[in-house]
Amino acid sequence: MLNFTVKQLAADLAARRVSSVEVTQYFIKRINALGKALNAFISVDEEQSLASARAADQRLAAGKGGPLTGIPLAHKDIFCAKGWLTTCGSKILSNFVAPYDAHVIERFNQAGAVIAGKTNMDEFAMGSSNETSFYGPVQNPWDTAAVPGGSSGGSAAAVAARLAPAATGTDTGGSIRQPAAFTGICGLKPTYGVVSRYGMIAFASSLDQGGPFAKTAEDLALMLNVMAGFDARDSTSLQRVPEDYTRELAQPLQGLRIGLPAEFFAAGLASDVARAVDAALAEFRRLGCETVEVRLPNMRLSVPVYYVLAPAEASSNLARFDGVRYGYRAPEYSDLLDMYCKTRAQGFGAEVKRRILIGTYVLSHGYYDAYYIKAQKLRRLIAQDFAEAFRQCDVIMGPTTPTTAFNLGEKAGDPVQMYLSDIYTIAVNLAGLPGMSIPAGFGDRNHPVGLQLIGNYFGEAKMLNAAHQYQQATDWHLRMPDGIQGEE
Ligand code: GLN
Repeated sequence: MLNFTVKQLAADLAARRVSSVEVTQYFIKRINALGKALNAFISVDEEQSLASARAADQRLAAGKGGPLTGIPLAHKDIFCAKGWLTTCGSKILSNFVAPYDAHVIERFNQAGAVIAGKTNMDEFAMGSSNETSFYGPVQNPWDTAAVPGGSSGGSAAAVAARLAPAATGTDTGGSIRQPAAFTGICGLKPTYGVVSRYGMIAFASSLDQGGPFAKTAEDLALMLNVMAGFDARDSTSLQRVPEDYTRELAQPLQGLRIGLPAEFFAAGLASDVARAVDAALAEFRRLGCETVEVRLPNMRLSVPVYYVLAPAEASSNLARFDGVRYGYRAPEYSDLLDMYCKTRAQGFGAEVKRRILIGTYVLSHGYYDAYYIKAQKLRRLIAQDFAEAFRQCDVIMGPTTPTTAFNLGEKAGDPVQMYLSDIYTIAVNLAGLPGMSIPAGFGDRNHPVGLQLIGNYFGEAKMLNAAHQYQQATDWHLRMPDGIQGEE
């Protein structure tokens, strides 16, 4: 069962060769052992998980199962799940038990999936290494001295260490793709508006998108089939005819035009990452694809633009954490204002405070035009670059990250270095495009390398097709870190 895909597990469940209770117990046992060592989970609740597994078994017995019925999934602790502690990696929500389900959780419940646990993450999804979590850093299963990436590092580590067959994450500037790359698994960020943000704790609302992690492109498609869909409770949710994201998987890639942005292969890209990405591109050519060079001249502005806009939105979104209605409240204070100050001073970590300060600054009267408005204009130019590039190609490819996983502590003291690890992913969020990362070999220290695929708006099925065909011809996605086996 260790290395089974969602697809394989679902077939075994449907044929009643194994029960959801057995599958769930198997993974929870792994979470309680290896998951603890990696610090990948914030909460596990075996009783709740087994109750859903039993319900799934009844449904399967009645022949009413679907592709995810009975499958245990790990959810990033940013998604509210009724009756589950939902912390967002923060002290300020360390006592918050969600009274309702996020839309994504609701959809998985309707599909009969089981919640295997809630995963560790950077505080409020702010980070690229999982070191800003109030619950401590997560280790990379490939090298426990290295970070798993962030902010969805717990979910990525969980799938990489085979603690769950698939997981959810969120991506505001790269937080699904970057940890997927660092841990040798697949992750997909959908087109903005495809997955509802209802009940997904907000960081930067115009950039945040939920998406799946799994071992294969095919499993990502099955997950996305459940996660995607209109929800009237999110005003940016798109009303579209439902898609089957598996529909193009089997198509041959003959004639597919792959755009290679010159800016992705320039200075700053580590040579071991470049080597693996080049080999992957050679494989795509063997599969019949053509490659063309494209240009994204404004991409170099994406990190500075993001670090104006994302903090601006965060400073507004995080104003709600005031110690009044829910969450942590400072134990001692003199009056209301003092209660707000102490609650927020004690409840938020350093990175979150840094973002709130930057965001408040760029939105303040004297600086709004100079920073916030300027950044919005540049955001439009970045989106236009992609529109131009997609005139010449069907999918864009390149590295997901400039380096493989770095060491714990290596960049923690230098925010700018940390921010630069998202240099290839952030522009995709600014443009609202779909993107994904798939494993494409290993770098110098035997750390996984991720290949990034970027689609045009609603191009998820096309990206998944390209990724799936690559995975039919290669086996990087089936490789597992040493030392995760445990007893079967
Ligand atoms: N690393 C980026 C940040 O810290 C992106 C995080 C994310 O995508 N949630 O903001």
